[in-house]
Amino acid sequence: MSVQDVLNIIKEKNIEWIDFRFVDLLGKAHHISLPACEVEEETFENGVAFDGSSIHGFRGIEESDMVMMPDTESVYVDPFTAHPTLIVMCNIHTPDGERYERDPRSIAQKAEEFLQTAGVGTTANFAPESEFFIFDDVRYESGMNTSYYSVDSEEGAWNTGRKEEGGNLGFKIGVKGGYVPVQPVDTQQDIRSEMCRLLQEAGLRIERHHHEVATAGQAEINFRFDTLTKTADNLMKYKYIIHNAARQYGKVATFMPKPLFGDNGSGMHVHQSIFDGDTPLFYDKNGYANLSEMALHYIGGILYHAPALLALTNPSTNSFKRLVPGYEAPVNLVFSKGNRSAAVRIPVAAVTPKGCRIEFRTPDSTANPYLAFAAMLMAGLDGIKKKIDPRALGYGPLDKNIYELSDEDKSEIRSVPGTLDEALDALEADHEFLLEGDVFTQDFINNYVDIKRGEAKDVAIRIHPHEYSLYFGC
Ligand code: GLN
Ligand code: MG
Ligand code: MG
Ligand code: MG
Repeated sequence: MSVQDVLNIIKEKNIEWIDFRFVDLLGKAHHISLPACEVEEETFENGVAFDGSSIHGFRGIEESDMVMMPDTESVYVDPFTAHPTLIVMCNIHTPDGERYERDPRSIAQKAEEFLQTAGVGTTANFAPESEFFIFDDVRYESGMNTSYYSVDSEEGAWNTGRKEEGGNLGFKIGVKGGYVPVQPVDTQQDIRSEMCRLLQEAGLRIERHHHEVATAGQAEINFRFDTLTKTADNLMKYKYIIHNAARQYGKVATFMPKPLFGDNGSGMHVHQSIFDGDTPLFYDKNGYANLSEMALHYIGGILYHAPALLALTNPSTNSFKRLVPGYEAPVNLVFSKGNRSAAVRIPVAAVTPKGCRIEFRTPDSTANPYLAFAAMLMAGLDGIKKKIDPRALGYGPLDKNIYELSDEDKSEIRSVPGTLDEALDALEADHEFLLEGDVFTQDFINNYVDIKRGEAKDVAIRIHPHEYSLYFGC
């Protein structure tokens, strides 16, 4: 889309505000709005200045000037503003016009450029399945504005802020009982449909929506795959629309990986494949699960680098509370067709050559999608370059329920890191594959690890509710 096309949209849709957005290291969007009547061709060429020193993890106060450079391909109309507003995603540049080395969106684009030069194929496709919970928002009921979804660790019970005045007045979904029941058990059909309508209007192709396995309104909406940066943009759009649609219903949506102790958490499985033009490179009708050697090597790269990758795909302390046995979240670094307890699953049902792909199941939606997709592609490409054979390294295939293996069999299998700090240790030890083609830089890795170590420490020094059960009576 040209700048002129965008200016035409502004006229046709009577747009009043242009909302320039960028994404920080943690995957949060930020915006500055300019009056549409002041926006002209030059605005798109020169960009919009902002103060990088006020964004966590970006520049110091002494070199704070940064510029947002809009990408006209990414525009969509904000469904939530009273004043018609056009959103445009931006890259971050330094004042001398260079791509800022800590800008996640630039890193995603650099990963795509690296793929082009690696001689592997032309495009990498990504499709995330980003699960979330829709909870009652007691802020609207009680005027509270702090976090209140406290976990009561006693016997795995929890308090979701739900009111149960007069007892249980209707059907209730039990622990892990939420997979696709019809109404009235599913109380969120309409809110999910409304979310999908808004997402479609904003340009996403919706494939389906459904209630997910956990109780208390766990949801999933799937949208169609696209190339790396476009899919990361789509995921930002997805989260923005879901958060705000929930708010319009007086609810709150959360993508936190494990909000409820004792029930399924929310993952973001990421489907991935590489094409050369129209030719799918991951398909071979004679291979295991119809996978080509290239696809197997890609899996090898993902599994071999997984401990380090998780620092980017599962970058919160809460991420590791989801990666425990028994909740359809992967714990073991193996691949398998169909098996949902494996870190890499190959969907085989009703899959065509073009649909042939791998599904990496560990990531969750606390990941910054630009960084996580870029890092997964770099790991996969490293696997292809070095011909890392996952079978030779003991990563499977394993077509059994891994949760039920004997301890002896399990001892052969590598596990995901147990904590954010362990994943950060792994990233510090293994990040050469990310530095290829200057996609990620050493400065980026050092800064990122520092920030995330700080988060882990902030959580570790706080008093946990379960400590009261264990120690209060001592
Ligand atoms: N919620 C599960 C997870 O944490 C996945 C459930 C599913 O999609 N089958 O990954
Ligand atoms: Mg799904
Ligand atoms: Mg799911
Ligand atoms: Mg899945």
